[in-house]
Amino acid sequence: MTMKPLIAANWKMHGNMSWRNKPAEFNEILPTAERRHLDVLICPPAVLLAPLADKRGGTDVWLGAQTCHDQVSGAHTGEMSADMLSDAGAEYVILGHSERRAAGETDADVRARVEAAVKAELIPIICVGESLEQREAGQAEGVVEKQLAGSLPDDLTDYVIAYEPVWAIGTGKTATPGDIKSMHAFIRSRVWPTTRILYGGSVKPANAQEILATENVNGALIGGAGLEMESLAEIAKAA
Ligand code: PEP
Repeated sequence: MTMKPLIAANWKMHGNMSWRNKPAEFNEILPTAERRHLDVLICPPAVLLAPLADKRGGTDVWLGAQTCHDQVSGAHTGEMSADMLSDAGAEYVILGHSERRAAGETDADVRARVEAAVKAELIPIICVGESLEQREAGQAEGVVEKQLAGSLPDDLTDYVIAYEPVWAIGTGKTATPGDIKSMHAFIRSRVWPTTRILYGGSVKPANAQEILATENVNGALIGGAGLEMESLAEIAKAA
């Protein structure tokens, strides 16, 4: 099945107010008319959502958050609810990123956040992926299966999965095309035929074409290479 690819940049804890012009910068490099067949998403630090939304102007770059709390409001110092993020301009939210899972976020936490995101009409991008140790022990599919079973509410319909092998994030190492193909086929067997499955882990202009041409890869979640609009546009062109 062909579906609109999603090219998503996770800025993590990078950026400042001057970065609010980046959607317009992206659109100059790759105008909307040239990319009707794909969706482009930027997930900045939450504090930059509203400034980016203000400056987005005529571009159709989507905006997303990097996590959300599972409660709507309350005494949760330092946290942000899905409603607040939506109000600030987010349409998507990344949930269960491996950097957050490594800091203690469990499948049950991710699931509760997904439920809150859906109530706020944000589309969740749910991250799954195994460590190098788990892959070498032959546990990659089992780990991903458990994460999917634990993180996805039963009645979830509109969502995105990002398969990100932990050992490929920010390391310059990418999974082999064969590994990507077989894990994406496995994930496809667990989600809807229309669910987009992104690959993430050191995606860059030099490897984007091969990765994005792999069966059941419906886009990419990009860290480092998504900070520069030139390289994000190169990756988008490969989709
Ligand atoms: C990520 O953190 O989701 C990621 C894929 O990072 P990078 O592209 O830098 O490996």
